[in-house]
Amino acid sequence: MGAQILDGKAIAADLRAQIASLVAARVAEGRRPPGLVVVLVGDNPASQVYVRNKQKACEQVGFASEIVRLSGESTQAELLDLIDDLNARDDVDGILVQLPLPPQIDEDTVTERILPTKDVDGFHPYNVGKLVLRQPTLRPCTPKGVMTMLSRTGIALVGKDAVIVGQSNIVGRPMFLELLMARCTVTVCHSKTRDLAAKVRGADVVVAAVGVPRFIKADWVKPGAIVIDVGINRLDDGSLCGDVDTDAVAEVAAWITPVPGGVGPMTVATLLENTLVAADLHDPD
Ligand code: NAP
Repeated sequence: MGAQILDGKAIAADLRAQIASLVAARVAEGRRPPGLVVVLVGDNPASQVYVRNKQKACEQVGFASEIVRLSGESTQAELLDLIDDLNARDDVDGILVQLPLPPQIDEDTVTERILPTKDVDGFHPYNVGKLVLRQPTLRPCTPKGVMTMLSRTGIALVGKDAVIVGQSNIVGRPMFLELLMARCTVTVCHSKTRDLAAKVRGADVVVAAVGVPRFIKADWVKPGAIVIDVGINRLDDGSLCGDVDTDAVAEVAAWITPVPGGVGPMTVATLLENTLVAADLHDPD
């Protein structure tokens, strides 16, 4: 293996330690700890694991956290009423509604009901618009976490050619805005892109967010590239793998993120970072 590993677990642990010391300093000044409420509708097993992990992470850094559980039969009106109550609470800085939602509830309507200053997922159109305008406040967690990882390589991004594979609202598109803001020249690819391999081959920075196991092959990657694997795919044997053919690509790339232990832990740590940003918006010193 030639590539250096961008260890998301270690970088996330550093970030959490920084956040914990900022929270301790706030509390020592007599200010309240940041508060995050996670709303879980229904009993999707994967969502239950994600929500538990988020609560554990909150406790570790000294946040006040709460999980509100609604039944899978809840109506959209019930969820919107709950969000209105949370929007009005002074002790709640961040509201996260765990996705996916049951079919009777429209995700966009729910996202838009959360106050933009409490939208710690960074999915509200206001926060997306601020990112488009290069005035970011609460930024989508996964792309922001990727930018934190990229900064740890010590490599200047200005002028680099970046290729993102995947154009989803939660990963590919905000990733495009983040890399453009860092002054990369960015190409976003998707399922209708022609000659994808050639486009990836031109990239100094590759971000894979496809949802297809080991999709990015070694002979698509430029020697010395930085390869970020956002994908999390569960294989039939129960193991996890990313969207990059990691072992083979690591022979070619300069830097690579593992799965698990890469972007995943950064997403949760960045959610904490966003909650602290939100707390400062609500309760500035
Ligand atoms: P998504 O909404 O399903 O989007 C997948 C994207 O990949 C789409 O833009 C799609 O193109 C594109 N695509 C699919 N097949 C392709 C192909 N053969 N060639 C080129 N492009 C192709 O997925 P997502 O929500 O962005 O998630 C992507 C992956 O990241 C998943 O494995 C997910 O589990 C993971 N994820 C991880 C984290 C984390 O914290 N690490 C966070 C979020 C997501 P079209 O638009 O043309 O259909």
